[in-house]
Amino acid sequence: MAEFDVVIVGGGLVGSSLASALRGLPLRVALIESAPPCAPNQPGPDERVIALSLGSRRIFGGLGLWPAMAPVAEPIQRVHISDRGHCGFSRLDRREEAVEALGYVTPARAIDCAIQAALERAPTLQILRPARLLDHQVRAEHVELDLQLGDERRRVETRLLVAADGGDSSVRERLGLQVDGHDYGQDAVITTVTADRPRPGQAFERFTDTGPLAMLPMPGGRYSVVWSCRPAQTTELLSLTDDDFIARLQARFGQRLGRLSAPSPRQAYPLKLKLVRETIHERLVLIGNAAHTLHPVAGQGFNLGLRDVAALAEALAEAARHGGDPGASGTLAEYRRWRGRDQADTARLTDALARLFVVPWRPVRIARNLGLLGLDLVPAARHRLARRFMGLEGSLPRLARGLPLEARHV
Ligand SMILES: Cc1cc2nc3c(=O)[nH]c(=O)nc-3n(C[C@H](O)[C@H](O)[C@H](O)COP(=O)(O)OP(=O)(O)OC[C@H]3O[C@@H](n4cnc5c(N)ncnc54)[C@H](O)[C@@H]3O)c2cc1C
Repeated sequence: MAEFDVVIVGGGLVGSSLASALRGLPLRVALIESAPPCAPNQPGPDERVIALSLGSRRIFGGLGLWPAMAPVAEPIQRVHISDRGHCGFSRLDRREEAVEALGYVTPARAIDCAIQAALERAPTLQILRPARLLDHQVRAEHVELDLQLGDERRRVETRLLVAADGGDSSVRERLGLQVDGHDYGQDAVITTVTADRPRPGQAFERFTDTGPLAMLPMPGGRYSVVWSCRPAQTTELLSLTDDDFIARLQARFGQRLGRLSAPSPRQAYPLKLKLVRETIHERLVLIGNAAHTLHPVAGQGFNLGLRDVAALAEALAEAARHGGDPGASGTLAEYRRWRGRDQADTARLTDALARLFVVPWRPVRIARNLGLLGLDLVPAARHRLARRFMGLEGSLPRLARGLPLEARHV
């Protein structure tokens, strides 16, 4: 008999969210993460902010985690989308969608802290950290995992292995799974700045010839900047003095928020699309970035991964309710039924946005600006786009509707 029902490899935001979603179920769960935990008051490796969609806020609500994040989350009430140097623009507004907010700009660290606090209170969860998955072998009834825990090597068995080990997933590589995608030839340079004429609740997505530039509202008149640029520019943007960087940013973004100042330390991330062709395999499922790594335009990557979590948790809860096998093909097929369409559609949409808006040819420029203006004029099209960005399209599992997974959830 396998020692675990579910082992999640990868304790990033997606893997640890899944662990927290499973914590009330009668399942023996282990979470394996290679990075040591970071203290809440120390700077961590990931000082990004995440634009959580309304759908993600509902999922965290269903998991009982939202109250811990809400105090530092800035609601997005409106989004202004424009094509730099051209006339096309469009707007999304929470009032038109009759929702409390289109999304919430939330520090990744606050999300992580809320999840980790919940995991500490989970009696049936074993957290193996720092521990690295070295190898795995799929057998008929279970999966064997070889782990490195400090100096010790350990073998464990599980009925289901969940690969949440990120965009460079070693589980995916070991299995030789086919991945589609491409390099965008862009890096995202991120920082935060202060605006002297902030517009509370207003986010901006400005398409430029080197890639999109997003300005996301944060508390206290600060804005999170996600600036996609060509790799040749990245080193320069990272090494400019603060004043020179602000001058560049201001020239790119314009004066909509008045004078920008006080940038925080900058970091760069290379941008690639990676889509695994099949997310379910014998006793194995890939979720989050391990299944789909997207361009950050429109802030969809984590939101998509969190919807994977909501659907997988529901499929596993259903199996557990009937005493079923969490790694059975029927359980995984149920998960895939929920997720296949959303994963493909969201990847297609973000990829189209990232690629279309850097094409310099005049006919394409004219067409996309007409498209933006058309979007602004046609409420039904705007509504459709807003619902997708909010993670509310299609049939949704319980958590994504803001409901707890089960009454017994702790
Ligand atoms: C600049 C930028 C801005 C973004 N903004 C947004 C946004 O606003 N909204 C949004 O929804 N998304 C956004 N994203 C995307 C989002 O950050 C990712 O989709 C999300 O963080 C992926 O989480 P993950 O847990 O799947 O993967 P990861 O964060 O990569 O976690 C994988 C984990 O697995 C561990 N691991 C790997 N291999 C092993 C092993 N062998 N053994 C044990 N552990 C292992 C790693 O240590 C890591 O902790 C952005 C991305 C970028 C680059």
